[in-house]
Amino acid sequence: MEKIKVNDTTGKMLKSFEEWADETAHSSRFFAFYTSLLKLQADTEAQTGIPDINLAPEEIKHRISSRQTLLRADELNIDWGNAQKLFSDIVNLFEQYPEFMDNFPAGISKEQPEISAETVKIWLEGGKLPDRMGETEIEPVIFSTLIHHTIRPFLTGYALAFKDTFDYELWRLGHCPVCGSIPALGYLEKELGARWLICSCCQMHWIFQRVVCAFCGNKEPESQSFRTDDSGLYRLYLCEKCNNYLKAVDLRKSREEINLELEIITTVDLDIQAQELGYTSGEATINK
Ligand SMILES: [Zn+2]
Ligand SMILES: [Zn+2]
Repeated sequence: MEKIKVNDTTGKMLKSFEEWADETAHSSRFFAFYTSLLKLQADTEAQTGIPDINLAPEEIKHRISSRQTLLRADELNIDWGNAQKLFSDIVNLFEQYPEFMDNFPAGISKEQPEISAETVKIWLEGGKLPDRMGETEIEPVIFSTLIHHTIRPFLTGYALAFKDTFDYELWRLGHCPVCGSIPALGYLEKELGARWLICSCCQMHWIFQRVVCAFCGNKEPESQSFRTDDSGLYRLYLCEKCNNYLKAVDLRKSREEINLELEIITTVDLDIQAQELGYTSGEATINK
């Protein structure tokens, strides 16, 4: 039997999250919810590993230089039985913790909602998702979030598979070169201070301009700003054109090792701060 290549993206996040939570006083439901979610995803990653990609280097280069994402729905190789199990588990989890998703429909698990190659294709291509699960109406943004969490541990494997296959300078766009999702976090790297983005879904990292809004491409300095905390470690990039914000970590300000993927979850205070200032997360706007 062929040995699977290890994908431990979420396993590492879970470990850092458990260490982080020991030292802080976040609510136990917050901790319980994220531990359960990360554990479900880490288990799926462990079973799935890193997929083989059967794309010629020329094709990869062609897609990147013509601004097409690397992953296409019809090339996605997923064990749908596994995906369905994870989807059901995630629906059940949100049912237990409805405070983590606005308007989550109570009792939806009774409908035995299904995930299919077809709905994942719609999601990946940014199309219109169904607004029902069985008899129950569901907001497309909720469906989209459930698909996002389900498909994530499969896509993190693709991010690792594609990681060193292309020239990053050829992709200076605000969305992920692998799956097309928007960034969840930015960071300024230690040496040169270049700005990198991390995908909200597959966790791919890619380089991006420092003075351009990742969500709308706004380049005007007068309609963009950023705020920092006292330590200078955390930043909030704010865009007046599209009204979105991006959280970021300035690694030049940190002496310790930082798990950036974990920061996506643990910087929830920055989300609250940005939303209190009247900005929205790109996620809510772009619906993916
Ligand atoms: Zn991605
Ligand atoms: Zn913008």
